[in-house]
Amino acid sequence: MKKPLIGIPCRILKAEKPYPSTGNTIAYLQAVVAAGGVPILIPNVDSKETWGHFYQMADGILLTGGEDVDPLRYGEQPHQSLGTVCSSRDSLEIEITQRALKDEKPILAICRGLQLLNVSSGGTLFQDINAQGASSIQHQTEQWHSLVHTIEIEKSSKLATILETTNIATNSLHHQSIKDLGEGLKIVGRNSDGIIEAVESTGSNFVVAVQWHPEVLWQSIDARWLKLFSALVSAARGYL
Ligand code: MN
Repeated sequence: MKKPLIGIPCRILKAEKPYPSTGNTIAYLQAVVAAGGVPILIPNVDSKETWGHFYQMADGILLTGGEDVDPLRYGEQPHQSLGTVCSSRDSLEIEITQRALKDEKPILAICRGLQLLNVSSGGTLFQDINAQGASSIQHQTEQWHSLVHTIEIEKSSKLATILETTNIATNSLHHQSIKDLGEGLKIVGRNSDGIIEAVESTGSNFVVAVQWHPEVLWQSIDARWLKLFSALVSAARGYL
């Protein structure tokens, strides 16, 4: 049976001359492979036409972690605690995301991916959770393989159906989060401090976004996290 192709927009791995390079982290690709999909990297080259070719090939989209989204993309000036931004990556991912939302092509979004999805849908972000007083809980750890806080999940959500639970512990490696929710999205997971940790589409199309990093947890901590990738691949099968 033909396997679904999962398009993964690339980041700029190295910007300096003489060899600027584009790619993405292997853990995301490996999770797609383990879930029965075939990852295809959408290169960060300055060519909208090329992005379109890859987009059309893809049966589903995986948005990954990384830099902060440029606040100018949601009409704000940069806060002093803003992290690194990457304008070319914003352009590539916003284009791919808005096309996928319009076409109802399945999307799984992780960490920055959730934030990018929200901005692509007209939403805004806290540029720094602590500096802007949005929470007193620690969200910015560097512990990829530690469960640092728990999430309450909406019972009726896709996420709860996929995970077969409404309460689960996650890792947390973010300093930004959703402020105003974008159009067509609904909140399906929060931390006890109120920080939004998971959102989905208000429609029946597969759009699931999480603020944590399941791509490393399924191998080291909790095998249930692979189900998120399996759900994306299953949804993508609808486009074969
Ligand atoms: Mn968190």
